Amino acid sequence: MKIAVLVKQVPDPNAIRFDPRLGDLVPGTPQATNEYDLYAVEAALRMKEQLGGTEVVVASVGTARETLNRCLAIGADRAVAIEGPGLPGDSLATARVLAAWLQREAPDLIWAGQETSDAGTGNVGPQVAALLGIPLVSNVVGWEYRDGVLTLEREIEDGHQFQQVQPPALLCALSALDEPRLPTLRGIMEARRKPSERLSPADLGLTEEDLAPVVSWGGLFLEEEKAAGIVLRDVDPDQAVEQLVAFLQEHRLI
Ligand SMILES: Cc1cc2nc3c(=O)[nH]c(=O)nc-3n(C[C@H](O)[C@H](O)[C@H](O)COP(=O)(O)OP(=O)(O)OC[C@H]3O[C@@H](n4cnc5c(N)ncnc54)[C@H](O)[C@@H]3O)c2cc1C
Repeated sequence: MKIAVLVKQVPDPNAIRFDPRLGDLVPGTPQATNEYDLYAVEAALRMKEQLGGTEVVVASVGTARETLNRCLAIGADRAVAIEGPGLPGDSLATARVLAAWLQREAPDLIWAGQETSDAGTGNVGPQVAALLGIPLVSNVVGWEYRDGVLTLEREIEDGHQFQQVQPPALLCALSALDEPRLPTLRGIMEARRKPSERLSPADLGLTEEDLAPVVSWGGLFLEEEKAAGIVLRDVDPDQAVEQLVAFLQEHRLI
């Protein structure tokens, strides 16, 4: 069995800093693996451990060396980085690239995250499934594979739902799946010897036209933070001063 996992490297949500003058993130913002994608990799690795004779291959469109190395270090067998001019485009271009690569690989199952913590469109999984013409199961929080039938637990509003699907299929992971494992020193050393491939869109038969964004990106801006504030009315000036000093002390501002 072959399982492909789609992973994206994103700005580390714990370290994001926005530069309003640039209208973008501060250059050099640390990167991390998209959280849901780590849950997707963990699910694929557990399937491999349960089923045996299974290959887990991870792929990313765009710069994602640390993310792919991390996936190899925790147990993925092979990594594919797809980089080149015109990337990243919009989510449809990303999906086209991934679908072209997946057509070549023909995996039995594809895991993706439900959405990313940066652009967060949640488009890529459904678009890839549509381009490949395979079923998609979203919001996956649990799975059981028995006698060739995959049962998936989905999180839905106010509850959970079980669905059965016959591979090939694409599954979108949420964070309620098993906790992702951490890389070990041995895993990091082993990762260096695992196969790692770098492809361009042209290697997959895609032209710049295929990747031209149809959705153009506008500017980014931060919501202005507004404090509720307090207003002192009908108090004499001495009392007002006392109340203001007490307020500032309570909030450790003086
Ligand atoms: C420099 C730059 C320019 C951009 N310009 C545009 C633009 O003009 N128009 C526009 O609409 N968007 C633009 N984007 C956004 C970018 O194309 C999207 O972030 C990307 O297509 C993925 O969409 P998403 O993050 O919303 O993924 P989602 O759909 O939220 O991701 C769901 C899941 O799909 C998989 N996935 C998503 N992205 C990848 C990936 N790259 N590799 C492997 N798996 C992946 C992961 O499993 C992920 O959890 C730009 C981004 C950058 C960095």
